[in-house]
Amino acid sequence: MSDELDLSAANTLRKEVFRLVVRGDRRPAVTRVYEHLRVIQEDPAAAPTDCKDGCAHCCSLPVMITVPEADLLAEAIEQGPRREELVRRLVGSHAEIAGLSAEEIALRGVPCPLLDGSSGRGSCAVYEARPLACRTYTSYDVSICQAHAENPTIERTSPARPLDYLTQLVTQSGLAGPTQKAFELRALLVELLTKEKRKKLQPATIDVTFRPERQ
Ligand code: SF4
Repeated sequence: MSDELDLSAANTLRKEVFRLVVRGDRRPAVTRVYEHLRVIQEDPAAAPTDCKDGCAHCCSLPVMITVPEADLLAEAIEQGPRREELVRRLVGSHAEIAGLSAEEIALRGVPCPLLDGSSGRGSCAVYEARPLACRTYTSYDVSICQAHAENPTIERTSPARPLDYLTQLVTQSGLAGPTQKAFELRALLVELLTKEKRKKLQPATIDVTFRPERQ
């Protein structure tokens, strides 16, 4: 295996996890995708990326997640020792971005409320349960990530490893199930963790099948 864009494995996986989601087996569906990613990312034949512990330039981009990914994240927060703090941060950040589109969130560079640290440097408070978009936003060139983070208005060229990026698009479509929807992370987690009504939150949604960006 290498960086080659053979997406047949991801496509097979998409169908498998779609079936799991349809029958209500969300956790196995998500863990199956995350394990698939781990294998392709740890492949010794894959070109090394520039991603390092403590680098968090991409944590100011909007993160779109599916319901099965959100279930796993919410469970990690619920069962962790920092539940109150993280829910407070999510609620506050969700209020900050209320009414903004994914593009506007990106332009403002609002950091993810699950980031421990400041823009550009820090670590994920829910690293083991982080969603697909975060796992696949790998970069060959940290200077591109930094330039985007420092000036979100410049044209964004993707620094991501194509295989990771395309695997995300394909498998997230499977995780989205019949609705083919993904939601902004804050909106969905606030809903799951505080039981607020979705209609009040108005989460941004996208068609995960055809969207060519992380958002
Ligand atoms: S969930 Fe974690 S990895 Fe993803 S954007 Fe938020 S802090 Fe970063």
